[in-house]
Amino acid sequence: MFILDVQGLQFKDSDFVCKEIAILNKATGQLYHHFINLPIPSKWLNENFRRQVQWNTQNLHGLDWDSFNFSFLPLENITNFIQEIVQNNTVFVKGFNKKVWLCNLINNHIVDMDSLGCPNFKKLKTVLFPNSLHCNTHSINNLFCTRENVFLLNNWFVNKID
Ligand SMILES: [Zn+2]
Repeated sequence: MFILDVQGLQFKDSDFVCKEIAILNKATGQLYHHFINLPIPSKWLNENFRRQVQWNTQNLHGLDWDSFNFSFLPLENITNFIQEIVQNNTVFVKGFNKKVWLCNLINNHIVDMDSLGCPNFKKLKTVLFPNSLHCNTHSINNLFCTRENVFLLNNWFVNKID
């Protein structure tokens, strides 16, 4: 089974736009972690959308919409990337919206960890597992990081504490 987390942006009824993804294989401990190249620059977005992008960057994840690198994954490859890793196994995510997003990409059994009583990320990070490791690509390092999140969720599974 796998634990998956994504960070990105949703604006009103737009599709969720993924900028960072991490998948942890619970059995082997292997981590798959990628940033995403988005197909259009933020300057092409309408003003309200762009303002929401900036708000998310400053308050949720510290990831720049326009950051581009050849080592990043193109957005259109994300379904194949996920499917090759998880195959037909069960995938755990935290949060209803992330579950809905993933259900639209793959046909696997997907479990929302909120339904298992998993506490929120703030509690996981500040109270239960304060020494978790954030990756260093975020401009603000106390915000959400998918790499950190999948390890936080795995820690909770292993210890089953709330
Ligand atoms: Zn990160």
